[in-house]
Amino acid sequence: MQTRVLPFSDESIAEAARLVLAGEPVAVPTETVYGLAADATNAEAVAKIYEAKGRPSFNPLIVHVNDLDEAERIGQFDKAARELAIRHWPGPLTLVVPLRPQSRIASIVTAGLPTIGLRVPAHRAMQALLRATERPLAAPSANASGSISATRAEHVLKSLGGRIPLIIDGGPTKRGIESTIIAATGGSLRLLRRGPIEIDAEADSGGRIEAPGQLASHYAPSKPLRLNAASPEADEYLIGFGSIGGDVNLSPSGDLVEAAAHLFDLLHEADASARPRIAVAPVPNSGLGAAINDRLRRAAT
Ligand code: AMP
Ligand code: MG
Repeated sequence: MQTRVLPFSDESIAEAARLVLAGEPVAVPTETVYGLAADATNAEAVAKIYEAKGRPSFNPLIVHVNDLDEAERIGQFDKAARELAIRHWPGPLTLVVPLRPQSRIASIVTAGLPTIGLRVPAHRAMQALLRATERPLAAPSANASGSISATRAEHVLKSLGGRIPLIIDGGPTKRGIESTIIAATGGSLRLLRRGPIEIDAEADSGGRIEAPGQLASHYAPSKPLRLNAASPEADEYLIGFGSIGGDVNLSPSGDLVEAAAHLFDLLHEADASARPRIAVAPVPNSGLGAAINDRLRRAAT
């Protein structure tokens, strides 16, 4: 794939929007670092973020939106979360809140969790892309897995050149470090990641902030799960892959992007089925298969 680098302009944003609506991820500056943005309502587009980054595991991704109104259609904000949003958006603050069940966010975005990280970015390029696509955009940092975040278009090109179709060059980013993340998922606020917004000043803003917490636990089904199953036992619900059909199938054609896109939905379906155990057909470990197998192994233990 040839990666084009276009300066930020109305024309380049229109081209980026066309690609995003066609299901491709594009790199775009935010005020923190360059993000690799894809339509958060399109599971395969989000799977392509993981493919391009070569990320060996699924993390919940931050979703960028135009404004608080749009954020509140996707997540449930309590009083403390809303006050923080009003005070700091647009800006480098991500709020993790309960996901509204009727939102159209793809489950791969939240890695199957019932919560979502939302933010309104302050950079004109990302804002323009949000307006042009009229889609919430999932966007982790635009760098290959394991390398440092990109603060210039040249960094993105060096890291992801040949793997993504377009980089919008908006010059160096202002902040250079990732957003502060605060969870407001019930009761008091919890700091999940330190960042440009000083959180000590927030302690009196309506909710008490607890000492730095860690990442939310990962979604895992509540039932025992068996890996590398060629065929199911009588009490197992089989998640198939390729020619191993199963009750449901991650990708009948053996496509790993499609499989990643369906993974969390099918785990939820298997969990909700009447059978007490889950089995999963073998998934090759190449490309996105590594991230899929990482998640399946965690679910199995
Ligand atoms: P980034 O790589 O900058 O996109 O940041 C992603 C990080 O945001 C994750 O590693 C989490 O720390 C945090 N995050 C996003 N969504 C959630 C969520 N639903 N629950 C907990 N943490 C989240
Ligand atoms: Mg990163």
